[in-house]
Amino acid sequence: MTINRQVAWPLAVAAAAAVMVAAVAPVATPALAQSPAIAKAVLKDKSGKEVGEANLTQTKNGVLIRLSVKGIEPGEHAFHVHAVGKCEAPFTSAGGHFNPASHKHGLESAEGAHAGDMPNLHVPQNGDLKVEVFNAMITLAKGQPNSVFDADGSALVIHAKADDNKTDPAGDAGDRIACGVVTE
Ligand code: ZN
Repeated sequence: MTINRQVAWPLAVAAAAAVMVAAVAPVATPALAQSPAIAKAVLKDKSGKEVGEANLTQTKNGVLIRLSVKGIEPGEHAFHVHAVGKCEAPFTSAGGHFNPASHKHGLESAEGAHAGDMPNLHVPQNGDLKVEVFNAMITLAKGQPNSVFDADGSALVIHAKADDNKTDPAGDAGDRIACGVVTE
């Protein structure tokens, strides 16, 4: 007599193995290791009065600038990163627009603008404005060609007039009314 014994083996349930992702230690170059993730600029007018502050945050794709100004004349004003971190009235000390790629001026420039070119500020009647500006053309990372922390530093400058976004080299933006050195 043949006995067919069928043994039902319980299905082994393959437990999904928890995948351990090995934490990869960040491998930073010495230059990047010293680079700040945030930076700041205190803007003053020609008389030395503080008229604003900017907080800069490094992101993967550029630098987020949170700007607040007080007592600025209402209307449109050009807002740029200038090439030299020196703010002595009338602020010509800050040099031209930050332009490591040697482009022509203007966000509407066919070849790609200065790294320091940014959209105009639209200051309301009370003269106070808070605004966030994203600049994808600059970095806080030291050692990079477009770093605001190059040998002579950089400054944020507000102009008397609007930037027309095309006239080389400065957008026909008039006098410099406020300036702040970018600091760590
Ligand atoms: Zn420019």
